[in-house]
Amino acid sequence: MIKHKQKGEFIIISGTTCAGKGTVIEKLLAKDKNLALSISYTSRAKRDGEVDGVDYHFISRDEFEKRIQKGEFLEYAKVRYGEYFGTAKKDVQKLLETGKDVILEIDVQGAQQIKEMFPETILIFIMAPSMNEVKRRIKARGKETKEQILDRFITAYREINEIPKYNYVVVNDNLDEAVKKVEAILISEKCRVDRIEEIDVENQEEFIHEFIMENDL
Ligand code: 5GP
Repeated sequence: MIKHKQKGEFIIISGTTCAGKGTVIEKLLAKDKNLALSISYTSRAKRDGEVDGVDYHFISRDEFEKRIQKGEFLEYAKVRYGEYFGTAKKDVQKLLETGKDVILEIDVQGAQQIKEMFPETILIFIMAPSMNEVKRRIKARGKETKEQILDRFITAYREINEIPKYNYVVVNDNLDEAVKKVEAILISEKCRVDRIEEIDVENQEEFIHEFIMENDL
């Protein structure tokens, strides 16, 4: 009776650095096979432990700029350290065509670009429990230079100021709870009337007539 839209939707997950958004997304993907993650392109250097094509598609700055010129990105931004991060049009197109909802783990600038193109996008912001906790987690990573650490911390503050542009905010003080909250958001969004393609009322008259006859009314 209720016909849902066949095409997938965009779900944007942004958040403060060290908020654990990667882990939240991993758990969501493991639980819901109707979700897919778009792997971004970046010009930043690969860190130890990162895998090309899994964490990001790592390309040079030159190559990134060539692809910008060719219009290959749905959105892109210089997020931090002056490096580019972007979502390829062809990748998301392929994922959306499978009918899956596509998670984009992108920054606030990219989120705004997508929201303008696709107003029905669901925007979720994941926050660390406190800035003290962010400080602690940044230091614990121990993988970056002092400049990069400072950049990361300042960006976190700047991004928090952008929360009003999102639809939902989830504080990740407990991983399982945070995952549950995001799942609940996605379930509720699916039930929204404006996400239904059609309510089939085709045989209404016939059904009423049948009901009258069956019950001798
Ligand atoms: P890193 O991987 O260097 O720790 O952080 C990358 C930052 O860039 C995160 O804030 C992440 O959300 C953002 N980001 C990752 N991929 C994309 C993308 O494709 N587009 C945009 N606009 N931001 C991205």
